[in-house]
Amino acid sequence: MKIRILRVLSVRANGPGVVAFVDDQLVKWNPKRGWITECDCEGDEDTSCPHVDALLDVLDPRVMGATA
Ligand SMILES: [Zn+2]
Repeated sequence: MKIRILRVLSVRANGPGVVAFVDDQLVKWNPKRGWITECDCEGDEDTSCPHVDALLDVLDPRVMGATA
């Protein structure tokens, strides 16, 4: 998948969040609201979709607050 990252701030940053385009689908993460996906593939449900999974693949888990 083609991933274009607009914004990545880890949970340790001030105002953390992730915004990226994955195959032209906008994928956003906001720690206060959990994963929010805006995809033509699955509407605006918060459930996981291939675009979110693809983005998670290229992010270090620590961005999302995982330890080790
Ligand atoms: Zn999707």
